[in-house]
Amino acid sequence: MDIVGNVLPQVLKDEATEDKGEMARLQSFVGAIAVADLVKTTLGPKGMDKILKPTGPGQEMSHITVTNDGATILRSMYVENPAAKILIEISKTQDEEVGDGTTTVAVLAGELLREGEKLIQKRIHPQHVIAGWRIARDVALKRLREISTENDINSQEFHDDLVKIARTTLSSKLITSDRDYFADLCVNAVLRLKGSSNLDYIQIIKLPGGTIRDSYLDDGFILKKQITIGCKTRIENAKILVANTAMDYDKIKIYGTKVKVNSMDKVAEIEAAEKEKMKHKVDKILKYQPTVFVNRQLIYNYPEQLLADAGITVIEHADFEGMERVAAATGAEILSTFDAPERSEQILGHCDLIEEIMIGEEKMIKFSGCKKNEACTIVLRGASTHILDEVDRSIHDALCVLITTVKNRRVVWGGGNSEMQMAAACEEEAKKVQGKQAFAIEAFGRALRQIPTIICDNGGYDSAELIQNFKVELQKGNLTYGLNMTDGTIGNMSELGVKECLRVKEQALLAASEAAELIMRVDNIVKCAPRKRERA
Ligand code: ADP
Ligand code: MG
Repeated sequence: MDIVGNVLPQVLKDEATEDKGEMARLQSFVGAIAVADLVKTTLGPKGMDKILKPTGPGQEMSHITVTNDGATILRSMYVENPAAKILIEISKTQDEEVGDGTTTVAVLAGELLREGEKLIQKRIHPQHVIAGWRIARDVALKRLREISTENDINSQEFHDDLVKIARTTLSSKLITSDRDYFADLCVNAVLRLKGSSNLDYIQIIKLPGGTIRDSYLDDGFILKKQITIGCKTRIENAKILVANTAMDYDKIKIYGTKVKVNSMDKVAEIEAAEKEKMKHKVDKILKYQPTVFVNRQLIYNYPEQLLADAGITVIEHADFEGMERVAAATGAEILSTFDAPERSEQILGHCDLIEEIMIGEEKMIKFSGCKKNEACTIVLRGASTHILDEVDRSIHDALCVLITTVKNRRVVWGGGNSEMQMAAACEEEAKKVQGKQAFAIEAFGRALRQIPTIICDNGGYDSAELIQNFKVELQKGNLTYGLNMTDGTIGNMSELGVKECLRVKEQALLAASEAAELIMRVDNIVKCAPRKRERA
């Protein structure tokens, strides 16, 4: 023993350290559970918000974020513990994959590890725990899929479901009181996409001022740009050419190119040649016979004038996103060469009306009656940028979930219903399995049940009593029951209209159990020494 103890420290070089066995596992558990506990209080419709405050030089108070979104909180955390990092990572992935359930996934993983720690203290080997968890996960997943329902995409029921899902997602956020209003708004925006899953087509414009109730979904599409001065600002029946091309003829000035010439005449000649080239390009564009020309890049005076003289309204410097959206909304193709004027009919975008409008104090361009109605704009108003940012995040969550639901169409009851049913499935399974795994399966169920427990606790209700009543209701066969968070009772979710998207729950279950398993497997943390620079 002594010999080993003396030899081992020399295996690793100076500064590299190693935590082994129990210590390593404990460190990982503590780190992951601490992170989960941090976001725990934000879970559910009565969850609390957190203020995130940056530190360090140059960070002002104005950069604070007030949020309830698990992913946002975790993303801005700076941690050293590797297990904590894993939890942060799964929350991020959840956000990117489905948009919601970001707190749930971290909390569930944390609770699994808490249960796991107890099992290890009972001298159950991690491999047995993992084996049990895997069985439990599959059982839970099976039950989750069984209890989900599907509606026809065009039916009224499906539309109602979408509104309910949006409301559930929004209910934990800042705008609880306005959630019906925003739920409708989000559903309408997503239905406009007609099955496309590209969130880019829904543009969100944030303008401080007014109240959040002044926010609205604009029928048309709004571009946060201005029409070049001197052009018509109202165009009916517009034919739009969308381009991404250089319209700057005097390259010599712009790039400071050096050209050696013998006389000023030569300079003028070069300029004239450049001008001629530009004119040629404009002529080619004119052949398409557009009435509006939208370019991603700047348009210089001379070409601008040529276009304006031809009676074309010019919109320049529409950034990349803006240009893509205009193209999507109006059904235009984005051009960078102009050699096929005969296809002009297909290439040009159409819309009934383009006009300059004022929102708040800002001038913008509105495209109404677009040929393809895919793109749309949500204009958010609110008293401060902090509120606007949080509303934006909430709406983003809702839009993501709705898009996922439109794709997947399966829904489950919210209010802890799915977690309780999955927990029940685990309990039933534990009774059938022989060996130590059974403990792990039971533990998995307990971890799942923690989600509704925490939601209750966060509302200030007596979770022990409520969860017991909840169990009884499910046992009685009231399978649509869940937490009524307004009254602090157990209620029928179909009356309260609390629904959730199956994909969100599926993803949370899979990601949390995978992360917990990963952390459970750790028995060694090796800190690598920083690589030293070689002395020359
Ligand atoms: P996440 O970031 O994981 O989405 P939330 O704070 O949004 O976390 O909380 C989601 C949980 O709150 C879900 O389990 C959902 O069922 C529950 N929930 C949301 N709205 C309600 C409601 N009105 N009544 C009961 N439970 C709700
Ligand atoms: Mg949520």
